[in-house]
Amino acid sequence: MRGLHVLSDFDGVWTDPERELDAVRAEVLRRLAKLSAWPVERVGRLYDRLAGRARSEPEVHGWRIGGELTSYLDEDFFGLPAAVGEILARGEDEETAELRDAVLAAWPAVSAFFDACYHETCAWFRRRYPHDLTRGAGRLLDWLAREGVRVTFATNAPAEKVQAWFAEHGLRVDDARETEAGSRPLRVYGRAGKQWLGEEPCRRRFGGRPVRVDRPRYRAILEREQPDLVLGDVLSLDLALPLHLRAEGREEAPRRAVLVERPETPDWVRAAAGPGLDRLDALVPHVTSLPRMLQGLRPRAPA
Ligand SMILES: [Mg+2]
Repeated sequence: MRGLHVLSDFDGVWTDPERELDAVRAEVLRRLAKLSAWPVERVGRLYDRLAGRARSEPEVHGWRIGGELTSYLDEDFFGLPAAVGEILARGEDEETAELRDAVLAAWPAVSAFFDACYHETCAWFRRRYPHDLTRGAGRLLDWLAREGVRVTFATNAPAEKVQAWFAEHGLRVDDARETEAGSRPLRVYGRAGKQWLGEEPCRRRFGGRPVRVDRPRYRAILEREQPDLVLGDVLSLDLALPLHLRAEGREEAPRRAVLVERPETPDWVRAAAGPGLDRLDALVPHVTSLPRMLQGLRPRAPA
């Protein structure tokens, strides 16, 4: 295994994000109750009704960049607060319109309010919890270090979050942009921008769903790092482009692409696994399955 290189997402792979998402929901409810002067229980009931509505239309909702979906709600549940905001902004019934108007009395747009709740809660969460790595992550990292497997994180979180949480385990994570590709055991691209789309839309279907694979910032990272294996928990953000590059026979494509499943991983994502260059090589239940996924891989020959 010595010399193998894994490019990995962080949140949802090395962390259990439910606690952070619960904190976002609680903050949204607290602030909505304040803005509307409604009891928080009433706000909670409406929020959950709108969340149920969003979940019932997963192909319509998700993380939008310039009006385009960059990931779908059912594969990426961090998109839920924004999806609730989208439906709230439409104000389709009296109760929803009343709450929307309470938000708009204090904020320029409903989306700005939801974005602020999201970003401020995530920042608070990082201050509140020194680390929140998933169970077994420490032992896995020790194993990877012993085996000489390098890991580079490409995450939407700031680099400092990853660096601080791993420091709690006594591990140093270098800034990937300031270090040579492959030069250190653990490196991180913070604010990696895997969600950013290109000028010319290019889509590939995975499990029947069209996914944008023009992601120039992520592509630059893959070209620079040339990983042997890519690991992620959101197909559209983490794995669609690596699989597309592999199907196109590109040099920078990884030889393996593995998805860490969550209990809510949707059927279309599960259907994207199987034989074929543009299909996931495996779905695994947890990041601690990584050693098994590395079996049989040999490092690339140096260029
Ligand atoms: Mg993730």
